[in-house]
Amino acid sequence: MHDREHVPRSRAAFGFGALSLVARSLDDLSPRAALVEIARDFHARGWMAGTAGNLSARADAEHFWITASGLPKGRLEETDFLLVRVADGAIAERGRAAQVPSAETSIHAALYALFPEARACLHGHSVAACLATARLPAAAKSVRLPALEMLKGFGVPGERPRVELPLFPNHADVGRIAREIRARFAKGPPAVTALLVRDHGPTVWGRSLQEAYNRFEVLDFLLQYLARR
Ligand SMILES: [Zn+2]
Repeated sequence: MHDREHVPRSRAAFGFGALSLVARSLDDLSPRAALVEIARDFHARGWMAGTAGNLSARADAEHFWITASGLPKGRLEETDFLLVRVADGAIAERGRAAQVPSAETSIHAALYALFPEARACLHGHSVAACLATARLPAAAKSVRLPALEMLKGFGVPGERPRVELPLFPNHADVGRIAREIRARFAKGPPAVTALLVRDHGPTVWGRSLQEAYNRFEVLDFLLQYLARR
């Protein structure tokens, strides 16, 4: 467990003031409060520099909350999210007037549609993610993850598992990336609940906010290892 630099704003929601206990799990918070915490954490760790990256959590079977576009991710508030319909990406609710959803909303919608068990989807940009694929051929469709102990964080069993992380080209048209993800995963889910867009960054999803968060950290560890090797 890493040290938290920030006191979660949502702590006050527990009503115990300074004597309150920190929530044990991100899933003890409301989805948007949890996403605000994750955004500050990811920003502090260099995974959401500037306004980069986008985070979402499923609100119900048909909708998810996602970060509004163009906001500094270290300073989000719970009103900085939009409610989006999984089926067609339509906006069901805005936290504030004139908000537009993140440009990569179509990728989140694709993943929620493909994987009904996914409750959260986290996307960041990292130097390690870009460097990890720098020496791969242009046509590479996946990255072999190193067979390290940390792979267990993805629930991968075995002594020295051979696990491929799906890799997608970084098209300027984000909708095209989303369509390629849909087409590929419709044939079968990947070995890990994650994908990498080349020269861009990872996206990790989970059955809970905490699982998605943990796995994003695990994936970053593995990508850092590949980048430094
Ligand atoms: Zn991105």
